[in-house]
Amino acid sequence: MRKTDYHIHPNYSVDAAPVTIDAYCAKAVDLELEEVCFTTHLEIDPDRRESDNFVMVNGKKHSSFDWTWLDHYFAELREAQQAFKNTLSVKAGVEVGFFPGQERALERILTNYPFDFVLGAIHCVNHMNISSKQESTHFFQNSSLTTIRRDYFNTLRAAIETGLFDSIAHVDLYLRYGLVHFGPAVLTVHRGVIEPIFAEMARRGMGLEINTSSCRRGLKDFHPTRELIGLAADAGIRVFTVGSDAHALHELGDNIDAALALLAEFNLTNHIFTQRQAFPYIYSSF
Ligand SMILES: [Zn+2]
Ligand SMILES: [Zn+2]
Repeated sequence: MRKTDYHIHPNYSVDAAPVTIDAYCAKAVDLELEEVCFTTHLEIDPDRRESDNFVMVNGKKHSSFDWTWLDHYFAELREAQQAFKNTLSVKAGVEVGFFPGQERALERILTNYPFDFVLGAIHCVNHMNISSKQESTHFFQNSSLTTIRRDYFNTLRAAIETGLFDSIAHVDLYLRYGLVHFGPAVLTVHRGVIEPIFAEMARRGMGLEINTSSCRRGLKDFHPTRELIGLAADAGIRVFTVGSDAHALHELGDNIDAALALLAEFNLTNHIFTQRQAFPYIYSSF
């Protein structure tokens, strides 16, 4: 099976283990991955400037608002592409945590650097990080499921309508902590609201990610659930990627075989990206 991992956080992400791009590539070869895409975090919500809008460069904290870190990131990616050119394809990606109001700043960054793949993510709803246990608990305790539903999906729709993203990461991330907090009601909260959003993604030729990190956090399904994958396919989305969301070396390639099997079950095709163009990953370059 031709394996890829399209969601990897090297040591540039403040919440990731100090593992270099080079070390991930070596491990990817061991795991018989054929192509990897690094997707370091880019978060530039000015309201969170003091809390989490940082990246790490050579082990030091660096503001995400100062782009020079991207020069280091791309230089390191180029070195890895050279070093592994006979065994592994290495792509330059980014995971953008979207919040409305940052479109112009994001556009400047994304057009000034030669990314292969731009993954959009909704990590924050009303400036609260739903992927953090602490913040989501506080947020969920002070909001109704109806409000969260409205605000999450409005943010998702706004992200899609910016046209800035190639694909959407973990589209039901609210389940990570929401399932424990709200119970099974949260599993169906997308019904009636996600269908037109998926239709718009399909119209734009956007991709959707199968993210396996959910299994490391005790969820039964990947992000998104089987029901959501079915709805995405029904809406006409054809571009899918698979990603472990590795923040540590041992998480690389995690459950990728199962994610690829799931795509096959739905008759969907794993994709790769080059210079922001999607290609079905049918033929291996190795
Ligand atoms: Zn994410
Ligand atoms: Zn991630």
